[in-house]
Amino acid sequence: LLVLGIETTCDETAAAVVERRADGSGRILSNIVRSQIDEHAPFGGVVPEIAARAHVDLLDGIVANAMREAGTGFAQLSGVAAAAGPGLIGGVIVGLTTAKAIALVHNTPLIAVNHLEAHALTPRLTDATEFPYCLFLASGGHTQIVAVLGVGDYVRLGTTVDDAIGEAFDKIAKMLGLPYPGGPQVERAAASGDAARFAFPRPMLGRPDANFSLSGLKTAVRNEASRLTPLEPQDINDLCAGFQAAVLDSMADRLGAGLRLFRERFGAPKALVAAGGVAANQAIRRPLREVAAKAQTTLMVPPPALCTDNGAMIAWAGAERLALGLTDTMDAAPRARWLLDANATAPGKFAN
Ligand code: ATP
Ligand code: MG
Ligand code: FE
Repeated sequence: LLVLGIETTCDETAAAVVERRADGSGRILSNIVRSQIDEHAPFGGVVPEIAARAHVDLLDGIVANAMREAGTGFAQLSGVAAAAGPGLIGGVIVGLTTAKAIALVHNTPLIAVNHLEAHALTPRLTDATEFPYCLFLASGGHTQIVAVLGVGDYVRLGTTVDDAIGEAFDKIAKMLGLPYPGGPQVERAAASGDAARFAFPRPMLGRPDANFSLSGLKTAVRNEASRLTPLEPQDINDLCAGFQAAVLDSMADRLGAGLRLFRERFGAPKALVAAGGVAANQAIRRPLREVAAKAQTTLMVPPPALCTDNGAMIAWAGAERLALGLTDTMDAAPRARWLLDANATAPGKFAN
C-alpha cells in the first residue's frame, strides 16, 4: 500500500509518502516538514489564524515536493490520509479539504486520521512493534498513558489533569525569556544547569492512578524565578535543570503506575513506547529505560524527527487503517477535539 499523508493540525505543514508492505513493515519514501517557527516566533507561541493562512500558502507545494521526492504519481496511490484532528481547526480544515480534493480527483480512498493515533502507531513504522504495547504520549497538547491493543483499539490509563508536559516546557521557556519553541531550549539550558540547586515538587508521586499534574511545579518555578529576578544565565540554566529533573521524576513514577495498571488489565505489554514531541528530549531516555526495565519490558522511542509532528506518521496511520479496510467518506468532519479512547472521560472535565 502506498499512502500520501498530510499533517496541518498545529504549526507544521507536512506531507509524506509511506509504503506499508503485506508483512506489516513500513518504508518512508518522502517526508517533508515545513515548520512555521519563523512565522510564530515574534508572538512567543502559535497564532491560530497565522497558522491556518500559512498552511493554505504552503501545503500544495509541500504535497508536490513529497510526491516528487517519492518518485510517484497520484494514480499510484492506494489512499490519501489527512489528520482530521485534534488540533487548531483552521489548519485541520486546510489539510482535510486538500486530502478530500486529491481523493476525489484521483478516485482513491480517503483516510481521516486522528493525529494522536498517528503518534501512537509510529513505532510500528520504524520498528516491528507488536500489540499490545503501552504508549507514553507526551506532546504540546497531550500527556497520556494509553494501552494500544490494536489499530483503532485504545484504552487511556492516565492523563494530565492540567498542563501537558510539552506545554509546561514551553511555558517555562517563555517565563525565563527563552525563545519559542521552548522544549529544546529548556533541554539545552538544563544540560548546563545544577538540578540540585532548587527543591522543586515532584507532582503526584506515589498515587495509585496514572495521572499527571504540572501546574504546581510550574508555579514553583515561577515563584523561584521571580525571587531571583534579574536572572543571571546560570540561574536560568539551574531553573531549567531543576524543572526538567522534577518532570522526569514525576514522569517515571506515573509511568510505573501506568504500567502496573496495564499489566492488571491486559497482561504484559510487548513494549513501552514514547511518542510525541517531548520524546525528542534526550534526557528522558535514561528514566524511560529504567522504568521499562523495572516493568520487564523493552523501551521503544522513534527517532526525534518522527516524534515531533510530521506527515509520515499520518501516512502510516492511514496505511494501517487502509490495510484493515477502514476508510472514510467525503463527509468526514474536521475536529478540534477528538479523544483517542472514546470511553475516556475521567478525570472530571479534563478531556485531554
Ligand atoms: P499534539 O500532538 O498534542 O496535538 P503538538 O502536535 O503541538 O501537540 P508535538 O509537535 O508532538 O505537539 O510536540 C511539540 C511539543 O514538544 C512542544 O510543546 C515542544 O516544546 C515539545 N518538545 C519538543 N522538543 C522537546 C525537547 N527536546 N524537550 C522537551 N519538550 C520538547
Ligand atoms: Mg508542533
Ligand atoms: Fe503532535
